[in-house]
Amino acid sequence: MSNYEIKSDNPSFVLHGIEDVKFENRPVPEIKNDECLIAVSKTGICGSDVHYLCHGRIGDFVLKEPMCLGHESSGTVVKLGPGVKNDGRINLGSRVAMEPGVSCRTCTECKSGMYELCPHMSFAATPPIIYGTLCRYYVLPADMLHPLPDSVTDEDGAMMEPLSVGVHSVHSLGKLQSDQVVIVFGAGPVGLLCMAVAKALGARRIIAVDIQQERLDFARSYAASDIFLPGARDPNESMEVYCARVSDEIRTTLNIPARDHGAVDLAIEASGAPTCIQMGINILKPAGTYVQVGMGRNMNVPLPLFHVINKQLKVLGSFRYGPGDYPLAVSLVERGLIDLKPLVTHRFGFEQAKEAFEVNKLGRDESGKGVIKAIISGPE
Ligand SMILES: [Zn+2]
Ligand SMILES: [Zn+2]
Repeated sequence: MSNYEIKSDNPSFVLHGIEDVKFENRPVPEIKNDECLIAVSKTGICGSDVHYLCHGRIGDFVLKEPMCLGHESSGTVVKLGPGVKNDGRINLGSRVAMEPGVSCRTCTECKSGMYELCPHMSFAATPPIIYGTLCRYYVLPADMLHPLPDSVTDEDGAMMEPLSVGVHSVHSLGKLQSDQVVIVFGAGPVGLLCMAVAKALGARRIIAVDIQQERLDFARSYAASDIFLPGARDPNESMEVYCARVSDEIRTTLNIPARDHGAVDLAIEASGAPTCIQMGINILKPAGTYVQVGMGRNMNVPLPLFHVINKQLKVLGSFRYGPGDYPLAVSLVERGLIDLKPLVTHRFGFEQAKEAFEVNKLGRDESGKGVIKAIISGPE
């Protein structure tokens, strides 16, 4: 029944250790039950892939054996397991966005609708899981595959992973409503996608804060209504005083009230910088919501807890994505409410994967063009 010929090899891009990646031929994976075999079409490079390449670890996730990189992918279903529901959702030949984490489905977190917190999660290219999606064939259960409408490209499909992080932060946790005001710290890929989600959901104002003018200019052309570049810290100014001063400057320069209509309802911190964390908490209106999605390096982040308490803020961490996030991401793109194309700045063939990572590490290519998202095509 299959027109989808399955090749006998599975070229894969495998990380062996710090700065040590190799192209390898791995076996074509077997599928069971409710699983599908997917021929990978496009894969975006994520900061976490680059981090594993440079450091061999992220926090408690330490590379112990060779691991195929990649987790932001789309592809085509080429084989269905015998237990895949025959409900027309996923068929042979379906183009899909691949949600790359498989949870246990039985623990308390899974049962209560927060599968992203499952302690038994197997997540692509995150040790100890040795499989990532930078390969020809990948296996996922059918329910982790999200069909792409005809108007949504395979590249868009690969971008659904980071977009779902934005949906999770702004919609599912931040609960942004139409006419609200959001401030986003950090105009990298995740920050930009959070802005895109805020715009799609009808935010009144979207304020982008970053320390690079070039990134702010892009943010304004893309989804931000306002931008702000904080000035440097005075040498004899404490961090608290500096952060309070910049927070005031943002409000006065952009004419943002401290409370009531037009004040900042939601702060999304997508930089991980301790200064931005403080500013986010300073600038929120009473009962506002603060969402931390940027991964900082510093354990010792001073938090203005006085403001957290006094304004009764909701302070939330945002981890990956959960129920409904991928479907909403696909829907926002399908309906033209988010355009992902301007974010794809670089494209590479599978054999050029090393160059792709190099450009990502440097943050710009030889011509000086900055990288937002680089996409690698699946093996020919
Ligand atoms: Zn990612
Ligand atoms: Zn679980």
